[in-house]
Amino acid sequence: MEKEDKRMQTIYTKMTEEEIDRDMIRRAGEILRAGGLVAFPTETVYGLGGDAFNPESSRRIYAAKGRPSDNPLIVHICRMEDLERVALRVPEEALRLADAFWPGPLTMILPRRPELPRETTGGLDTVAVRFPSNRIAAALIDAGGGFIAAPSANRSGRPSPTLARYCREDLDGRVEMIIDGGQVGIGLESTIVDLTEEVPAILRPGFVTWEKLCEVLGRVDAGPLVPEENDAAPKAPGMKYRHYAPQGNLTIVEGTPEDVASYINRRTAVHRREGVRTGVICTEETKGRYEADLIKSAGSREDENSVARELFRILREFDDEGAEEIYAESFAADGIGRAVMNRLLKAAGHHIVRV
Ligand code: AMP
Ligand code: MG
Repeated sequence: MEKEDKRMQTIYTKMTEEEIDRDMIRRAGEILRAGGLVAFPTETVYGLGGDAFNPESSRRIYAAKGRPSDNPLIVHICRMEDLERVALRVPEEALRLADAFWPGPLTMILPRRPELPRETTGGLDTVAVRFPSNRIAAALIDAGGGFIAAPSANRSGRPSPTLARYCREDLDGRVEMIIDGGQVGIGLESTIVDLTEEVPAILRPGFVTWEKLCEVLGRVDAGPLVPEENDAAPKAPGMKYRHYAPQGNLTIVEGTPEDVASYINRRTAVHRREGVRTGVICTEETKGRYEADLIKSAGSREDENSVARELFRILREFDDEGAEEIYAESFAADGIGRAVMNRLLKAAGHHIVRV
């Protein structure tokens, strides 16, 4: 199926933001300039980078991920002045957002410059641009020529990698290099905000919340919690694809903590009688209530950033441990909770039970 998918020897290297291995970054930069691919840490999730101005690099990213090529890539920059090399117009709102959140986990959709290959922008007239704060990412972007197209470094459909080990699982032999920079801090992909419309609109919720964007811009369209399932041409094309789904069947359960635990315990008891392996995604406050085979706390409800950071790791662990029926507690869809619920709903194929 994947004709271009030739196997290669992947180079692994490890570094920290405090101690960047300059020699390896130089080597990674050479790989990128020659049209190769490098997976690297960012503050959100690991990215799979290629030279944004090289159409062949973008084609290789799609092939390595097994991703449909109408799903555009995010262009990563490491200098503010480079923004106008990829964006045709930079509205005043973009400058205000950059001032408040860049470098950081915010992606802006702007009209694209014609020099940018259509392969990189999935054939759209717009470009998604981000300026990450992770210092390894910044050094790599600089070494690679300043413009790195990078989606998340997972095979299409799988949860985005929050550890280099998961990049290896998905991309070993498909990319030239993987840079291990430890566990990422945020754990969910960047907030995407569309600045090409009259009112700026969130296309994907993330760590930079609607509330924070409103503080800077005044009026921002929060967008749907998850895009309409039957929307054939959503604004962020990636949102129409099945995402993050674990191999097991995932159900979100909403209700009071007592009702949620008793519903899940009833269900897992039935599954156990049928010999089906069960898992629960819960929180520190509730983990003692469950009787499933695998019980995973994503952290405290007092600290939803921790839930964001752990969610994708937990989904992958359930795959590794063979969970067949998985139940997740629900989270209030405001602040960072909105991004958590967006990913959970997509992972669950919108399957939510209210008890
Ligand atoms: P990933 O980096 O894997 O999270 O994927 C990039 C996301 O950005 C996908 O959901 C894309 O659909 C979205 N994206 C990239 N470029 C654009 C664009 N020009 N307009 C709208 N969404 C975009
Ligand atoms: Mg992705």
